[in-house]
Amino acid sequence: MKPLMKKKIFIAILFAPALALVPARILYAQSIRVVATWPALADITKQIGKEQVSVESLATGVEDPHGVPVKPSFVPKLNRANVLILTGLDDEHSWLPALLEVASNPKLMPGQPGYIDCSVGIPVVDAPARLDRAEGDLHPKGNPHYLLDPVRAKTVAQNIAAGLSRNFPQHQALFERNLKAYLAELDDWIGRWQKIAAPLKGVKFVEYHPEWAYFANRFGMKRVGSVEIKPGIEPTPNYLVSLVQEIKEQKAQVLLYGAQNPRLPQQIAGETGIKVLRLYSSGGGRPETDTYIKWIDYTVRTLVGAVGNG
Ligand SMILES: [Zn+2]
Repeated sequence: MKPLMKKKIFIAILFAPALALVPARILYAQSIRVVATWPALADITKQIGKEQVSVESLATGVEDPHGVPVKPSFVPKLNRANVLILTGLDDEHSWLPALLEVASNPKLMPGQPGYIDCSVGIPVVDAPARLDRAEGDLHPKGNPHYLLDPVRAKTVAQNIAAGLSRNFPQHQALFERNLKAYLAELDDWIGRWQKIAAPLKGVKFVEYHPEWAYFANRFGMKRVGSVEIKPGIEPTPNYLVSLVQEIKEQKAQVLLYGAQNPRLPQQIAGETGIKVLRLYSSGGGRPETDTYIKWIDYTVRTLVGAVGNG
């Protein structure tokens, strides 16, 4: 039996009873029930849908970006949702497809109107010539961590507004009005961040998992390397030796990691003196990053503070 099939059956057996446990008054309280995979997407959806939507995020924002642990509560949420908002580009590949099959909600399946993929129209960094997961690469369609670029968040907001309007055309005028206001707010912040982030220009960094390409491109940071050999592939001792050498030669200033174990970043810091900083590639999970704008603001300011003091 294929591993994915086994996983689906396992999830089905484990979570099927959860469908029966959700009180009806919770299910029917709001007109449009939205499930987002990540908190940043949930927040942007709230900005567009306002009082018309009830939004929940499956991930809290501090999980491994490609390995969100599935909980029994995810199944009834997906089963009862009107629409699903996701990052796409296979970001959620390791946990969402199997969960969707168990949730048995035809509206949310890929290609259906309720499946709102926010990556539509995003210029993808590191897009491969052909789709290939043969070596366990977690970015088979290119880098999916585009939410770290606030300019790309404008495309995300547009995709969400279009997706909500497609499913609920009676509220289209409201969604479009809210979208316009949110895009203007984002533009204000982007202008501010460009100024605040000026010290980041040319800063050489190392990342644990390749998550920072879009942010780095936006604010002019230079990538020296990653702790993982490829997305999702942990380093060998020989690889770490060459990474340490590269950090020393290039005088990389900061090593960024998020949900990963801090052991290797600290070891590398011990050998090179590089500054280590924990910054997550998704908002949420912490009060200082519980909206998209607060998350990017926190990220920019924390990085500027770290580099400025270094
Ligand atoms: Zn990734």
